[in-house]
Formats: sequence, structure tokens, C-alpha cells
Amino acid sequence: METDYLVIGAGAMGLAFADAIHKEKPRSKIVIIEKRPLPGGHWVDDYRFVALHQPAAFYGVGSLELSSGGNDLSSHAELVDYYDRVVKQLQKSSAITFFFGTEYKGSGLAIPLLNPDKPIKIQVKEKVVDASYMKVLTPATHSPNFKVGDGVKFVPINDLLDLQHKPKRFCVIGGGKTGADAVVHLIDNGVLADQIKWVVPNDMWFWNRSKVQTGIVGNEFIKFLKAIQNNSSVEQIFLELEKKGSLFRLLDEELPRKWRCATFSQREFKILKSVKDVVRKGRVHAIGIDRIELDNGSVAYEEGCLFIDCTANGLAARPKQAIFSDKHITLQSVLMCQQTYSAALIGKIESARMSVKEKNAILEPVPHPERVEDMPDILVASFENNIRVVKKIPFWFRKNRLSVGAHVSFLNFCSLIVKSLLLTPKAKLALKRIASNSSH
Ligand SMILES: Cc1cc2nc3c(=O)[nH]c(=O)nc-3n(C[C@H](O)[C@H](O)[C@H](O)COP(=O)(O)OP(=O)(O)OC[C@H]3O[C@@H](n4cnc5c(N)ncnc54)[C@H](O)[C@@H]3O)c2cc1C
Repeated sequence: METDYLVIGAGAMGLAFADAIHKEKPRSKIVIIEKRPLPGGHWVDDYRFVALHQPAAFYGVGSLELSSGGNDLSSHAELVDYYDRVVKQLQKSSAITFFFGTEYKGSGLAIPLLNPDKPIKIQVKEKVVDASYMKVLTPATHSPNFKVGDGVKFVPINDLLDLQHKPKRFCVIGGGKTGADAVVHLIDNGVLADQIKWVVPNDMWFWNRSKVQTGIVGNEFIKFLKAIQNNSSVEQIFLELEKKGSLFRLLDEELPRKWRCATFSQREFKILKSVKDVVRKGRVHAIGIDRIELDNGSVAYEEGCLFIDCTANGLAARPKQAIFSDKHITLQSVLMCQQTYSAALIGKIESARMSVKEKNAILEPVPHPERVEDMPDILVASFENNIRVVKKIPFWFRKNRLSVGAHVSFLNFCSLIVKSLLLTPKAKLALKRIASNSSH
């Protein structure tokens, strides 16, 4: 078959991109290939008590509201249902064709997983769009990189809802968003904090959810920019943001080394702090019959402990790739931790009459942050992208539901733009100072 765009992956990014292209170029043919049987990407396999950790107002695709919009933290069921509705909405157009349960093998060849003898050959007139580049992993779709001894009770976080008997103790492995979600879920459901052992290889900063709400999140990003401008080291930047109430950390005496935009409420954070048996001895190497072996030693664990695997790297930082080329688009983030906004924006820029070079000059990829040192560069690059976008397509930035600029008053919108224009060059200058301090 023949198409203008071939999108690999019907996850949140592939669908946000396809929706944006379809809005701008409704006659362009789009074929979307997805190896899972359902749309929504990793959301399909995520643990059922997962929830969006940012407001629904600016997540999803540009043309369809998610849940009740606003600050709603959509549930797993709402997200899966949403992506089903997104697909049904797109399928109303004869220009769009989906193949689920079908794996793209490259060079225009796709194989239906249940019917491998009937491969699909696709001629692409415009571009192949890689919407699988972010390689999101979830506990259900990864294998732990440590040994689990025979007889150890070990389950992915997904299985927590299917337990037949309550174990006496729980050992949560993983200090990221998923591990923290597991701890909150257990305590919210009646497990006592002292029944939990929590293995945290690396501490991360938590983002205070009350600051990441519609209407004010733009000012929050500006606060990060100011902190970069004001300080000479990464540590000082994070301490300033903590002082201003934006960030939390579990340990008072140590500064976390990870920044992954994990967003929690004050209530959830209080729950996390109530767990006292936190193991900080690096990564797990092996779980034996009565001990956990880690980078920096080993610890005993109590008989009957159920291990909860929360070690999948949900969103690893991927190497930057040019987003646009003559025949390809590689979907990546262009605003810190805002993947669906990024994919929709890439669709909008793709549809503009510009050369590949001009398109790449507007949008620079900003990989997902992992270490605290990643944040300043990523944030400044995000603002530089936004400034170029506002200059080129201010109306999109103001009106698209995935843009934080669409959820503030006109006055506030103008103030955000002016502050971005004034502060971004200053923060950029500060980056050199900060980098030279980090290397000492
Ligand atoms: C637990 C969790 C919570 C999160 N919460 C938020 C949040 O609140 N806000 C936020 O902005 N982000 C959040 N994220 C980040 C999230 O990764 C992005 O928002 C987004 O869902 C990523 O979508 P994606 O399309 O890039 O990746 P995926 O969801 O992985 O989709 C890619 C799709 O491509 C398909 N695919 C891959 N290879 C092929 C192939 N060869 N052929 C066919 N199909 C293929 C895969 O099956 C998959 O469905 C969260 C991530 C996790 C793990």
C-alpha cells in the first residue's frame, strides 16, 4: 500500500503526532503500525493503579480532551479508554489506517504478529516517523538485571492488585517513580510503613505537584530558569528550588543525584517519608534466599517478604537525533518532560512550508533528564525551542490544549513570553559557569 506518512508506534507520541498532521494536512495519508494489540503504548501494560502524574489538561492529543481535563490525574483505565477513543476519532477519516498487532521491520515492511505469512509492504511518499524511539520500559515488559534466587517471592508491581494473601512484609526494589508509587499504594491500602523495606539505589528529587498545575506550571518553569540564572552550581539550583517549595527530598542530610520530573503531592511525599527501612547500598546484584546483595554490601531480609520489582527504567535518556531529515522524523521531547506536547509540535512544524534545515533549526531534541546535572541544559534548550516556536507559530502555542500557554489568561501568557525572552539568554550564559563548577 501507499501512504504519505508511516508512523511506527501508536503510543502517546505517535498518536499526538498523527493527530497534529491530520489536523494540518487532512488529505495526507497516514498509516500507523503498532505491535501491541491496543493503542496507548506503555500505558496498556502499566500497573492498573498508575495515574498520570501531570494534569490531564495538557496531556494526550491536541484534538481531544483527556478525562475531565483540568488538573485531573487520569487513571490507568481512563488513559487506555482515551487512546481507544483517539483511534476511533482518527479512523473516521479515510486518510488514516491503523494496523495493530503488527511489527514494523524496516524498509517499508510490516509483519502481522498473528499472520506472519501475510507481510504488508508500504511505499512511503513523504516520511517514516519513528514514534518508538523513546523505548519506554515498564516492569511488565522488562527483565530485571539482577539474579533472583529460587524460592524468592518476586513479582512485578502490576501483580500487586492480584495478591491472594497479604504477605507479612514487602520489599520494594527501585527508588524511581514506580517504586514510590508502589510504596504509596501499599500504605494507602493498609500496609504499615514498618512492614516495608525500600531499596533506593539512588535518591531523586521529587517535584511538588501543587506547583505543576494548570495556570501556574508556566511560572514554575520560569522559576527553574531563574534558579539557573541565580546560581553557580547544580546543587545550589536544586537547593533554591527546594527552598521555594518546588522540590522535596527524602534525606535531609544528602542531596539527591537524580532528577527525572517525578511528581508527587505533599500527602504522598509524607507517606514516602514514613518508611524508615530504606536500603541505600547501590543497585541490587542478586536476591538470595535470605539476603539482598547490592553494590555496597548486603542486607538480610525477613522471611516471607514479597519483592516488588520497580526497576524498569520508564524513560531512559536516549541519544539526541536530528528530528527531521528528508525521509525520516524521529519523535523526541522538545520541552522538558512533555512528550505529547513535543510530538504534536513536531507534527505542526512538519506540516509548515520549511526546509528540513529550517525545521531542525526550530526544534532541538531535549533528552529526558536523569541526573541533576542534566536539568539546566535541558531546561534552557526547552525555553530556546519555545521562543523559536512562539516567534513562528504564536497562535498554536496559545491555542493548542497540549501547550501550557493555552491554560493561562492572555495577560499571564504575555508575561510568560516576556519573562522567557528576558531570562533565557541570561540562564544560557550561566550554563558555562555551572558546567565548569560541576567538572571541578
Ligand atoms: C509509569 C509512567 C508514567 C508516566 N507519566 C507521565 C505523565 O504523567 N506525563 C508525561 O508527560 N509523561 C509521563 N510518562 C512518560 C511517557 O513515557 C510519555 O508520556 C509517553 O507515554 C511516551 O509515549 P511514547 O509514544 O514515546 O512511547 P510508548 O508508550 O513506548 O509507545 C511506543 C509504541 O511503539 C510501539 N512499537 C515499538 N516498536 C515497534 C515496531 N517495530 N513496530 C510497531 N510498533 C512498535 C510500542 O509497542 C509502543 O506501543 C510516564 C511514563 C511512565 C512509564
